Amino acid sequence: MTANREIDDILQRAADGGRITPEEALLLYTEAPFHALGEAADTIRRRRYPDNIVTYLIDRNINYTNVCVTACKFCAFFRAPKHKDGWSHPMEEILRRCGEAIDLGATQVMLQGGHHPEYGVEYYESLFSGVKQAYPQLKIHSIGPSEILHMAKVDGVSIEEAILRIKAAGLDSIAGAGAEMLPQRPRKAIAPLKESGERWIEVMTIAHRNGLSSTATMMMGTGETHAERIEHIRMIRDCQDLAVANGYQDTAVEAALEVGGFRAFIPWTYQPENNHLKGRTQATTMEYLRFIAVSRLFFDNIAHLQASWLTTGKDVGQLALHLGVDDLGSIMLEENVISSAGARHRSNLHELIWMIRTADRIPAWRDTLYNHLAVHRTEADDPTDDRVVSHFSSIAMPGKKQLPLVDAK
Ligand code: SF4
Repeated sequence: MTANREIDDILQRAADGGRITPEEALLLYTEAPFHALGEAADTIRRRRYPDNIVTYLIDRNINYTNVCVTACKFCAFFRAPKHKDGWSHPMEEILRRCGEAIDLGATQVMLQGGHHPEYGVEYYESLFSGVKQAYPQLKIHSIGPSEILHMAKVDGVSIEEAILRIKAAGLDSIAGAGAEMLPQRPRKAIAPLKESGERWIEVMTIAHRNGLSSTATMMMGTGETHAERIEHIRMIRDCQDLAVANGYQDTAVEAALEVGGFRAFIPWTYQPENNHLKGRTQATTMEYLRFIAVSRLFFDNIAHLQASWLTTGKDVGQLALHLGVDDLGSIMLEENVISSAGARHRSNLHELIWMIRTADRIPAWRDTLYNHLAVHRTEADDPTDDRVVSHFSSIAMPGKKQLPLVDAK
């Protein structure tokens, strides 16, 4: 109970599984006492996941190019076409990294890159089909609406044709990057050349309609208002309402797991190094944690909520497990985009499992669709591979020292 009857009623309704309005979400975000907010969000997690399991994933983010024509102000990863530090990896290098990832237990790869002026649908078809042919067991959870719009524009085809072709080539799931902030004012301020938020939603809707499910992300802390953060999740919830109402699930498995449309929501915090936007407006830890809880209360139609230990730090990631989060995301065998902008937090398989267990949750290794691959009920069930650790930028930048992903020792 809090001192405010209106807030109590909203928290209770949300905790009971009822829907809250964007205005109510904003009130909770700005006014609700922290502990009451967290308790209500965790009530939802416990009802959704009474087994008390919190999942993690082993995957690798592999970048095919850093060349990009979109020049987002917050991005420290891209280089303009013809820049001396621009690069593209050949297929053999991408496949080598996939093979290395599989050796370390990865079940998924996230192929990410810039909007290269010459990369149309055909490039992505050969990228996805090349990976699928070499490693059919790997799920390809990659790219976002921005890349789909870019490739469709390069080749002069419709969004739907681009989606159908890359799905047929092997794309299993859209990663939902490029959402950043969907409302127009903050989006224009940080990514003036990117598609509008409405267009991002439109591409996701077409993908969901064609049986390609996704996750949804949000980058907070670039100067947006509290109300704009809530508007971002309002746009995603409305899009998911369409997916649920129309049964846009690809398979019986997806329908059973409630993972058609958006399977998960993943907010993370802006990193201010090496870009044109720089610092000063980053989200605080409390803003992030409060938003995590509000997201769990607001998204009555999205199954999973993921904490971002990469950008917020491992302590904050672990705290988020008490605010409605049921997934700690990936160990990230390789990550070069967010780490280029300053994210320094690294982890390893043992530590990720320890973070979940010491939060009084049961750790489980999952796949892309959140099927449990192994449940570590006791330490005797824990994996023993010491090689499964996070690696950042140094290994992906040609011209810099190349560190081997797997330690030779
Ligand atoms: S965020 Fe993506 S689209 Fe924007 S500049 Fe970076 S690589 Fe390009």
